[in-house]
Amino acid sequence: MSKQILILPGDGIGPEIMAEAVKVLSVANEKYALNFELVEDVIGGAAIDKHGVPLADETLARARKADAVLLGAVGGPKWDKIERDIRPERGLLKIRSQLGLFGNLRPAILYPQLAEASTLKPEVVSGLDILIVRELTGGIYFGQPRGTETLENGERKAFDTLPYSESEIRRIAKVGFDMARLRGKKLCSVDKANVLASSQLWREIVEEVAKDYPDVALSHMYVDNAAMQLVRAPKQFDVIVTDNMFGDILSDQASMLTGSIGMLPSASLDIDGKGMYEPCHGSAPDIAGQGIANPLATILSVSMMLRYSFSQTAAADAIEQAVSQVLDQGLRTGDIYSEGCNKVGTQAMGDAVVAALRNL
Ligand code: NAD
Repeated sequence: MSKQILILPGDGIGPEIMAEAVKVLSVANEKYALNFELVEDVIGGAAIDKHGVPLADETLARARKADAVLLGAVGGPKWDKIERDIRPERGLLKIRSQLGLFGNLRPAILYPQLAEASTLKPEVVSGLDILIVRELTGGIYFGQPRGTETLENGERKAFDTLPYSESEIRRIAKVGFDMARLRGKKLCSVDKANVLASSQLWREIVEEVAKDYPDVALSHMYVDNAAMQLVRAPKQFDVIVTDNMFGDILSDQASMLTGSIGMLPSASLDIDGKGMYEPCHGSAPDIAGQGIANPLATILSVSMMLRYSFSQTAAADAIEQAVSQVLDQGLRTGDIYSEGCNKVGTQAMGDAVVAALRNL
């Protein structure tokens, strides 16, 4: 029976990078007889334009039915002024929470060919291979109450809430430990336990879960220190597990260690391993429509999808190898360009990966 993949290109550079990822996926589909059926729909600003909401019920139903979801990026200035509750980003938060995608895996791997593209010294980042495990459906991005109120003196006051339950912490901690077990067996839990009550509970529960993983070395770090250590000595980390907001910020920071956010894929998994795969970057309105965006993060998201949702290790490895070969050939989009390389656009980069994959 065929497996269904829902393709949601989104806004800005989303459709441009997705077109390249779909080309790569289609070649993998054929070459490895994966029997995938691709279905496309809209999300974010594109869905607001079509349905008046950033995630239509019918799209959510398709996502539930699909075996995996591949997403581009959402948002852009066109929709910045509309009511907060139906902004493009709300569509993304809704699909993540409705599908129960609480475990966000964000690898930050430096391809040796891109050591020069990082703003950090090559000796600090060469060989970098970190995995950030971010809690994705709880914490301050979802906590209630939230809002803005007017005080008696007429001044406005805005507030958000940062809640975490024991079970939410336990299940993401387990993902962190499981991933560490598959890698270097080192897990660093990042929190702000010196200030936040939610972080104190976080630390307590992570310690409890650790008892089931005696083979994994657990450490704790405050988020401000983690931000500093990530640029000072990033190779000290193997797997980092952290909450939704800290993970959001630290994974963007980690992306720059690898040269560009345009290289970073991600997976968001539910309790059974069903997943949504997307690049870590946003819709990049500043370069949208110019054909210069880097499609590799989305292409590498396809590889993560094959690995984590379908256990197609050979096909996933082949896509990563094809990307590496293209970098070996000196092809670079603008965001990862350094002198002496061959600067190419989105489509040429996608075509090169397709050609490399066909020849493997
Ligand atoms: P962004 O990630 O879109 O862009 C940040 C910078 O990185 C920009 O200079 C952009 O040109 C560059 N960049 C990003 N992806 C690139 C790529 N593939 N190739 C080359 N350069 C790339 O973040 P932002 O500017 O803060 O946000 C823009 C819009 O995206 C906003 O509406 C925001 O809400 C939305 N956003 C969406 C997601 C998502 O869909 N997952 C994530 C973050 C931001």
